[in-house]
Amino acid sequence: MTTAAVAPVTESRLIGREEVAERTMAFRFYRPLDWTFQAGQFLDMTLLDPSETDAEGNTRSFSIASAPYEDTLMVATRMRDTAFKRVLRSMPLGSPVKLEGPSGDLTLHSDVSRAAVFLAGGIGITPFRSIVSQAAKDKRAHRIFLFYSNRRLEDAPFLDELQALEHENPNYKLIASMTDMTKSHRTWRGETGLIDKEMLASHLKDAVSPIYYIAGPPEMVKGLGTMIHDIGVDDADVRAEEFSGY
Ligand SMILES: Cc1cc2nc3c(=O)[nH]c(=O)nc-3n(C[C@H](O)[C@H](O)[C@H](O)COP(=O)(O)OP(=O)(O)OC[C@H]3O[C@@H](n4cnc5c(N)ncnc54)[C@H](O)[C@@H]3O)c2cc1C
Repeated sequence: MTTAAVAPVTESRLIGREEVAERTMAFRFYRPLDWTFQAGQFLDMTLLDPSETDAEGNTRSFSIASAPYEDTLMVATRMRDTAFKRVLRSMPLGSPVKLEGPSGDLTLHSDVSRAAVFLAGGIGITPFRSIVSQAAKDKRAHRIFLFYSNRRLEDAPFLDELQALEHENPNYKLIASMTDMTKSHRTWRGETGLIDKEMLASHLKDAVSPIYYIAGPPEMVKGLGTMIHDIGVDDADVRAEEFSGY
C-alpha cells in the first residue's frame, strides 16, 4: 500500500507587497529558516483569520516566484476582485498565513547537455522567475530560452530583471513578446507575435535536445502544449503546470 506524501505545514507572516505590473502584485513573506524548496515549486497558502471569505475558501496555490537563494518567499498574482485577494491586498504587514508545501516538480532537469525552453504567458512567469534567477546565481551550464508573452509592457511582471539576467548568465536568452501594444502608452521594439512554431523555430536553431516547460492559466497551457505537440515534440520532453483557478 502506498501513502500519498503529505506536504509539511508551517506558519509565516506578510512582510511586504508591491505592484509588479498593472493589476498584478507581489507579496513577500518571512521565510522560516528550516523551510527549503526547489526553484519552480509551489505552495498552498491559507489566510488565517481573514476579515472576509467566500465560497472558494481561504486557500490558494501559488508558484514560488522567489529563488531559493533569496531571503524571503515571494508569490505574485493578478489582482482579481475575490475575497482572498482583497484580504491579501489590505491585511496589515505581519499578518500570519499558513504555508503548506513545497509541492510540484516543475524543476530544472539535471542533464546540462539538454536545453531548457520555458514558455510563459503573463502570470505563468512565476515559477520561471525562480528557476532562471537561481540558475544564474548557481552558474548552471544549461542553455535556457525563456519565451515570455504578454499583451502589453504594462502587463509584464518582472520583465526588467528577466532582461538584466541576460548579462549575468551568458547561457540564458529571454524572448519577450507583446501581443497587443496598440493598447499601450509605451514603445516596444521586440517580438509582437504569439508564441508559435515560427517563433520557436527562429530562436531555437541551436538548442540541443530541448526539454519544454509550460506554466500559466489552463487554457494557455493547453494551447501551447498542443502547439509543441503538433511540431513533433515528444510528450516525455514536456513539463507543464496549470494554474487551475484562472
Ligand atoms: C500549481 C498551481 C500554481 C499556481 N500558481 C499561481 C501563481 O503563481 N500566481 C497566481 O496568480 N495564481 C496561481 N495559481 C492559481 C491560484 O491558485 C488561483 O486559483 C488564482 O490566482 C485565482 O484566484 P482568485 O482568488 O482570483 O479566484 P478564485 O476565487 O479562486 O476563483 C474561483 C472561480 O471564479 C472565477 N473567477 C473569479 N474571479 C473572476 C474574474 N474576475 N473573472 C473571471 N472569472 C473569475 C475563476 O475562474 C474560478 O473559476 C496556481 C494554481 C496552481 C494549481
